[in-house]
Amino acid sequence: MNTKNFEIKKTSCRLCKSKDLKIVYKFKKSPIGDDYQKKIKKTPKFDLKLQFCKKCHFVQLSNVIDPDVVYGNYIYVTQTSHGLSTHFKNLANYLINSGIIKHKSKILEIGSNDGTLLKFFKSISNLSIAVDPAAHLFVDKKVKNIADHFSHKLSKEILDKYGKFETIIANNVLANIDNLDDIFKGIKNIISKNGHLIIETFSLYGVLKNNLIDNIYHEHLSYFTIKSLKKFSEKYGFYLKEVKFLSVKGGSYRFIFQNKTLKTKKIIKNSIIKEKRITGSTIKKFKELQRLNQINSTKFNKFLDKKIKDKKIIAGFGASVGTTTLIYDFAVTNKIKYLFDNEKRRFNLFCPGTKIKVINPKKIKKYNIDYMVIFAWRYTKVILERNKKLFNKKTKFVVPHPQFRILKM
Ligand SMILES: [Zn+2]
Repeated sequence: MNTKNFEIKKTSCRLCKSKDLKIVYKFKKSPIGDDYQKKIKKTPKFDLKLQFCKKCHFVQLSNVIDPDVVYGNYIYVTQTSHGLSTHFKNLANYLINSGIIKHKSKILEIGSNDGTLLKFFKSISNLSIAVDPAAHLFVDKKVKNIADHFSHKLSKEILDKYGKFETIIANNVLANIDNLDDIFKGIKNIISKNGHLIIETFSLYGVLKNNLIDNIYHEHLSYFTIKSLKKFSEKYGFYLKEVKFLSVKGGSYRFIFQNKTLKTKKIIKNSIIKEKRITGSTIKKFKELQRLNQINSTKFNKFLDKKIKDKKIIAGFGASVGTTTLIYDFAVTNKIKYLFDNEKRRFNLFCPGTKIKVINPKKIKKYNIDYMVIFAWRYTKVILERNKKLFNKKTKFVVPHPQFRILKM
């Protein structure tokens, strides 16, 4: 397959349009990370590189792959995980208690997924609209669905039909969109005067601080800083009212913007200063991460090679998009026999472009695993706890990243 037709190289910064860009982190080429397949099949591999904007200090992927290739021909709803549901409930309470969402507010959510967040506003909102290509897959009498990608064009139709909205929410969706100007133009078009724009998104701060390189994949185009998104939003008349660091995905931000001119509060200036301690030397920090991760990868591979020579059976736990990033970057696609994951929609699928099948953890004992590599390393404790009765006694557990280690049990 000629991958060139599906891939656009970025030559300017998504936010400030500067052409002064520098590659700061390079992964080995990999297929689309979430594209787990029903059959073993060769899939095209794409560059996965981070590009740093020297002007506004924003980080983006160096390429954008055609969304039809990234998301496939079908759309499925990712059920919001238990942790995220609690997180959204807290967010909803906060927005109501702080008076941002008032009685009879009109709310529109972009990238609403399975509608988890909007359901918490049912008793207070006059009109809730979910905009998401998968929105038609969930039904709720009080939430109106628009099964489409949000755009400036779509905003005109929404405005004609429903008027303006006091609150617009875009959680965990901004990083996946290339043309942010079009999105912001659309939001500006339908947000009421003094209305609020709530955005939760993964951050560059999280990547650098916690070495979250497995949160970097082709779907994830942007790695925001407070400063870069604040400046970009001001172009459209949105001023930052609040910002909060969240532990979601290991390092996200919640931004609350208002459609009104605001002076930057001291608390926000302080958050920018705090962030700058990490992101102020992005080039240097990524260089260091690349060096450390390379050393770690060599150690991990040496370990695997030795165990394979000894005829040991090695499997992995976690079959997510992040696992694909790690498996390809470690170059271990031929060293891992199986993957186990509690997510049943992944059962019996193959990790993109590999022969590694995803298996129900309930069947683990049958496979007689010697070493289990926990690719979902941030959830090591949860995984071991949740599945402890399922593992063979002899199985040893390996955490591959950020530092390869064998767990003492
Ligand atoms: Zn820039």
